[in-house]
Amino acid sequence: MNVVVEIRSLDLAATPEDLAAAISSRTTNALTTENIKTIKPGYGGKATAVVLLPARIANELARGPRLRIGWASCSIRIRFPMNRGTLCLDFGHRKNACTGPDYRNLPQLLETWTY
Ligand SMILES: [Zn+2]
Repeated sequence: MNVVVEIRSLDLAATPEDLAAAISSRTTNALTTENIKTIKPGYGGKATAVVLLPARIANELARGPRLRIGWASCSIRIRFPMNRGTLCLDFGHRKNACTGPDYRNLPQLLETWTY
């Protein structure tokens, strides 16, 4: 199973190769740049990288302290998949499997409530 990992406060000059090397230095398996999905620039000259990793390696990585990549000290966060529909806003199912109330038109729904 693959897990999406966010690496934040990355230096804008960091390349996918730098990132793969830094992650590989901490985990038991060597990584290639294929695992690096995106590096997006953010505010303050910093970037966020999205990396797709096998769950075991992601755990190894996220358990440790901040990751040093070049001059930057980066935080590591596992992004949990949000399985959430747009009808009842409950977790664990999507719209097509929803049995809960439809919250798309909340004012109309509130009128049908009895107090
Ligand atoms: Zn639902």
